[in-house]
Amino acid sequence: MKTLNDFDFNGKTALIRVDFNVPLDDEQKVTDTTRIEAAKPTIMQVLNQGGSCVLMSHLGRPKNRDQKLSLEHIVSTAEQILGVKVLFVSDCIGEKPLQAVAELPKNSVLLLENLRFYTEEEQGDTSFAQSLAELGDIYVNDAFGTAHRAHASTAIIADYFKGKSCFGTLLASEITNVNRVMLNGESPVTAIIGGAKVSSKITIIERILDAVDHLIIGGGMAFTFIKAQGGSIGTSLVEDDKQELALNILELASAKGVEVHLPIDTVITQEFSNDSETDVAMIHEIPDGWMGLDAGPETRQKFSEVIHQSKTLLFNGPVGVFEMPTFAEGTIALCEAIALATKNGAFSLVGGGDSVAAVKQFNYDDQVSYVSTGGGAMLEMLEGKTLPGIAAVLNA
Ligand code: AMP
Repeated sequence: MKTLNDFDFNGKTALIRVDFNVPLDDEQKVTDTTRIEAAKPTIMQVLNQGGSCVLMSHLGRPKNRDQKLSLEHIVSTAEQILGVKVLFVSDCIGEKPLQAVAELPKNSVLLLENLRFYTEEEQGDTSFAQSLAELGDIYVNDAFGTAHRAHASTAIIADYFKGKSCFGTLLASEITNVNRVMLNGESPVTAIIGGAKVSSKITIIERILDAVDHLIIGGGMAFTFIKAQGGSIGTSLVEDDKQELALNILELASAKGVEVHLPIDTVITQEFSNDSETDVAMIHEIPDGWMGLDAGPETRQKFSEVIHQSKTLLFNGPVGVFEMPTFAEGTIALCEAIALATKNGAFSLVGGGDSVAAVKQFNYDDQVSYVSTGGGAMLEMLEGKTLPGIAAVLNA
């Protein structure tokens, strides 16, 4: 895997695919700077070596040249975060950017206009990619958020940088951290898979059975397993057509020697509301008219014990409706257990979907080993898929 460390950027122009797809408010002000901050280490490494950076990104889903989605809106925020002047050119290919690059002083940063102003970007158009490729000496892909898309700037462009392509710091660390769970995790390896539906996690579960010793299943998706086992789940979330699949997973896990931990009890309520009355029921004995919305006390304790014994942890999906404070305690207890295990030397990866939102919301993001920055891309990596943006750099 080639990284920034394999190149000397002194006097060179790095053409860097970043993910500056940040949220904007009605006045086009950046409301969350996480993604710009995430790209900073790569940009600074190139600048510190005496190189220049040409940054390319998409922003939103523009139809034609929608000026509301111009990357010009993020220039001042990028300048604040990077601490350097950021030049902007209102195009991605052709005369204007070519000239801007030719005139680019050493140690400078130039941001191109939104790549998706060109339909060729998402089409993976080769001549568009070739034109972009004229804007740099070395191609760096640091856009994990779009690594699962075979777009011109993420996958196709690497063909024009044979031997001159590498991963940026962010993308390299995402790959390394996933591999640390999926390929060479120190045992015992535990995956905590929660969230709403079995159907959206099925591929991950099937793939993960080859990598883990323990599988904790929580959240709404657990009820499909419990019902399939003959339990009474009241009005809890269920996918009736996935019951057989759930039983197959349990069988497959047992054949592979993976210990599966399902909830023991659950916090129940009659209405999907933060203010509704709650009770606790055993997971197989939920009364009619009641639904389970959070992990119960015995479940929290059991799951935490498994987590404390683990050396490698993957957290994907909350174990309750954590958006409502009344049903957030189970997810908070798990975050706490993961943080403690991490403190005691375990490696913990939080990735894919709402578990990232949960660890951030409850302020555990700096108490785990790694929080992934890419929702869809991380899910696809955990599913064992080859991401086009990663494959392109590996093959270049
Ligand atoms: P996912 O995006 O698949 O990880 O699902 C996350 C969502 O699952 C969150 O919005 C949670 O509120 C929801 N969730 C977790 N536990 C439950 C539950 N017991 N019943 C209904 N929804 C749940």
